[in-house]
Amino acid sequence: MVFRPVLMSLKSFWNEPSNTNESGKKDAFTSGPKPGELLTEVTLPGPSSPKRRANRIPMFRPLIQSWKRLPTPVVAHSMRSTSNGANCSLKLANKVAVVTGSTNGIGFSIARRLAQDGAHVVISSRKQQNVDRAVAMLQKEGLWVSGTVCHVGKAEDRERLVATALEHCGGVDFLVCVAGVNPLVGGTLKSSEQIWDKILGVNVKAPALLLSRLLPHMENRGQGSVVLVSSVAAYIPLPRLGVYNVSKTALLGLTKTLAVELAPKSIRVNCIVPGYIHTDFSQVFTEDSAVEEHLKYFYGMQRVGQPEDCAGLVSFLCSPEASYITGENIAVAGWSPHL
Ligand code: NAP
Repeated sequence: MVFRPVLMSLKSFWNEPSNTNESGKKDAFTSGPKPGELLTEVTLPGPSSPKRRANRIPMFRPLIQSWKRLPTPVVAHSMRSTSNGANCSLKLANKVAVVTGSTNGIGFSIARRLAQDGAHVVISSRKQQNVDRAVAMLQKEGLWVSGTVCHVGKAEDRERLVATALEHCGGVDFLVCVAGVNPLVGGTLKSSEQIWDKILGVNVKAPALLLSRLLPHMENRGQGSVVLVSSVAAYIPLPRLGVYNVSKTALLGLTKTLAVELAPKSIRVNCIVPGYIHTDFSQVFTEDSAVEEHLKYFYGMQRVGQPEDCAGLVSFLCSPEASYITGENIAVAGWSPHL
């Protein structure tokens, strides 16, 4: 069985001592201030308050200014959306979302949900026929979507995606980066430079580079929301998926860093951390029920997730209800004692 080595190494990996704390979380992810903690500190009054101390530290100043602006919802109107008869009572009405890797699986489900909640969604992935199929399917459901080919690792495709969003909608409010690859099952140190470049290029660099192109247009709208897609493999590395694990851990850091950098622009950056979700990507695990049972055991999950389990959270993170949430990595993995 192809995945027996993976399972064996999972088992031995799990039995080895790790750098977890008493609550079972990796120390690297539990240390350091969270945005909420920082906020509590800087809003306390008083002559020698942390607010004053924080204000004296230049790097906190833009952050403090931006926190003040974050909660104010701004409704940026798109002529297209109003003329398209979008239902303005929906929570994402008049908003525009760009979703990468959205013709299948988790990305497709997110695109559908954002559109159901009122946004215009720009669908994209590498293959034209997949884009056409996804767009046709959602338009048939009465949803307002458009689409274009975008291999996120290619600069010219990213440019086209930005141009399509601007052409159809005049601006962008949300970027959801779902596209991710794992072309190799193998050890980290046995991975070639080409594999490293491919996985880090698509999974980590591409979201940042795409966002850098969309940023001026998001800023024009007054505020925005970015959602990245990591994996529980970031917290509990899957043996033989070494570089993929590393790329997903890097996304947790990218989320925190971008959240701090973009807070002054009122753009929030969060990350969903899916567990084991039933899609083509995870089919290698689901096609063997023994493997599935083992994975459930190791992750401690009660059931396999569905793409829709991720979609609701992304819609919430884009909505005004989440206007005070940024820099968070949120697991969508069922209950697990190991996360
Ligand atoms: P999926 O069902 O295989 O769908 C992948 C989608 O991404 C397809 O629409 C595919 O369309 C597109 N795509 C692939 N490579 C791309 C690229 N380089 N540029 C643009 N689009 C690309 O996969 P999924 O399970 O939904 O996974 C989506 C994301 O969730 C990935 O980042 C994955 O790491 C993460 N994730 C999945 C699970 C899980 O259990 N399924 C768990 C944790 C995290 P084309 O073929 O047309 O490009």
